[in-house]
Amino acid sequence: MSTVPVYRWRLAPDGLATKRQLRALGLRPGGQDVAAQVERPRRRREPLVAYLYRVEQAKPVRPMTPAKWAALAKANAARRVCPECRRDAGYVIPPTLGMCTPCAFPEEQRAA
Ligand SMILES: [Zn+2]
Repeated sequence: MSTVPVYRWRLAPDGLATKRQLRALGLRPGGQDVAAQVERPRRRREPLVAYLYRVEQAKPVRPMTPAKWAALAKANAARRVCPECRRDAGYVIPPTLGMCTPCAFPEEQRAA
């Protein structure tokens, strides 16, 4: 287990923020590891610990709405339609071919 720097409460360097602070900025940690932690001493109890993340590595919060999912599905469906024969190839048309395989290799399809 790797150790992260521990700072006193309110003494953490700039550029680090807790999840809650990131959220207030419209950001999320975005899969990054904990960069540091701050400890708030409490009398006769374990210190209160908060984990800090790098603000520069944080990603914007972008919740997927049903409309966004629909738009994504539509975009994916469009990418499966062969521009040559206009049929749904059933897979995304490879950009290197620019068309479905029966259109790209008609000879091989007939031989098969
Ligand atoms: Zn085709």
